[in-house]
Parts: sequence; structure tokens; C-alpha cells
Amino acid sequence: MIRTNDELDKMRKAGRVVAEIIDKTRAFIRPGVTTHQVDAVAREVIAQRGARSNFLNYHGFPAVICTSPNDMIVHGIPGDYVVKEGDLLSVDCGAIIEGYHGDAAYTMAVGQVSEVAERLIEVTERALWAGIDQMREGNRLHDIGRAVQQVAEGAGFSVVRKYVGHAIGTAMHEEPQVPNYWPGSPGPKLKVGNVFAVEPMVNVGGPDTIELDDGWSVITADGSLSAHFEHTIAITKDGPEVFTAP
Ligand code: MG
Ligand code: MG
Repeated sequence: MIRTNDELDKMRKAGRVVAEIIDKTRAFIRPGVTTHQVDAVAREVIAQRGARSNFLNYHGFPAVICTSPNDMIVHGIPGDYVVKEGDLLSVDCGAIIEGYHGDAAYTMAVGQVSEVAERLIEVTERALWAGIDQMREGNRLHDIGRAVQQVAEGAGFSVVRKYVGHAIGTAMHEEPQVPNYWPGSPGPKLKVGNVFAVEPMVNVGGPDTIELDDGWSVITADGSLSAHFEHTIAITKDGPEVFTAP
């Protein structure tokens, strides 16, 4: 899908709202707050900016963000969980403006965390940016995942296979999927006007996942820590433009 300049402008606006959610939730998260309270911070930004939530009611999801602590990879439901010193907390967030979507995620250390946790966060974010750097006209789709995988596995970590990035526009999840690994073929050529949500999920241990009985929360099968970073990015003639960066 090639987005017009007018569509890209709307996606820029949605991206600004998502960037604000990142900033405000990051500033709010500290030991003692519940993930429900973090969700409330995001709800307020969405309301203030006249946006809509793309997470709320998505296949019945009950919140505007996902909050996934420690060995939880993605899709955690905000609730009574009390954030504590030493946690890793992954926050996935999004917003819709004028029918166009933004989608992003980050993982933060709550207070002092272990050395491996700190390294996991740093490596996962660096893997995302390595993937973003491949978003140039003439490159192939799976150059993105190859770059992500090289950074993550180069650091001794693993990349989740079951959950992947995606094209984004008038829906949050559009085709094609954007895997965070080399799937065995280069895929289609990247074009100016493509917009993708690139979102590596990186585990300290193995890549296998388990979905919990709540039907949403996904954890690492081996109980190891996981981190998740995501941005919504357009390919322009000058290279990648990140819409959701604070
Ligand atoms: Mg997301
Ligand atoms: Mg996404």
C-alpha cells in the first residue's frame, strides 16, 4: 500500500499523539503505581488530543495500552498489577486521528534493574533502529527483520517468531507482516509511501511463547525476561521517517 502525502500527514498527527502517550506514561511509571493507572494516563492523552483508541475493544481488549512486566512479552492487560522496583515494564500504545493509526511500544527499567535487564532494553531498542535504518526505497521487506535479528542474536538474545510487525494505515494491522527475523526470502521491494510498524520482541532466553488463560497475555516459555520496542515509520524519498518518536 502506497500512502499519499495527505494520508501521511494524518499518520504524522496520529504519531504525535502516540509519542505523547510514550512521554507521559514513561514519566508516570514508578514503583507503587498500578498498570491500570498507567492506562488512565494514556486515556487522558487520547481524550485531550481528540484521538480515538485503536486498542480499546480490539477483539474485545479492555484498555488503551498493553502493559507487560518482566517475562511477559506483549498484550498484557492493565489492571491491579503494582509496578515494583527492579521490574521491566513493556508498554504498547496507539491512537487514531482522522481514521489513521499510530502504534508504538517501549520497555523501561523501573528503578535499579539487573545488568542483563539493562542490556536487554538497550539491545532491543538498538535492534529496532537497525531495522528502521533498512526502510529505504529499493531495499527488500525482509532486510528489516534481518537487521533486527543480527543485533538481537549478536548480543546473545533471541527474537520472538510468533508475533511480528505489520503495515499500518487505516487499520492498525495491515498486510504485509514485518517479521523480526530473516524468513528465508527477501520479500517485496520497499517503496516510498509504505508505512510499517516495526516491533522487535527480544528474549534473554529462547524465542518460544505461551499465551495465558486470559486470552491475551503472552509470556516467554522459559520464564526469561523480554523487551519490546516499536515505532510507526514511513519510507520517504529521503529515507525512513519515524512518526511516533517522542
Ligand atoms: Mg504496538
Ligand atoms: Mg504493532
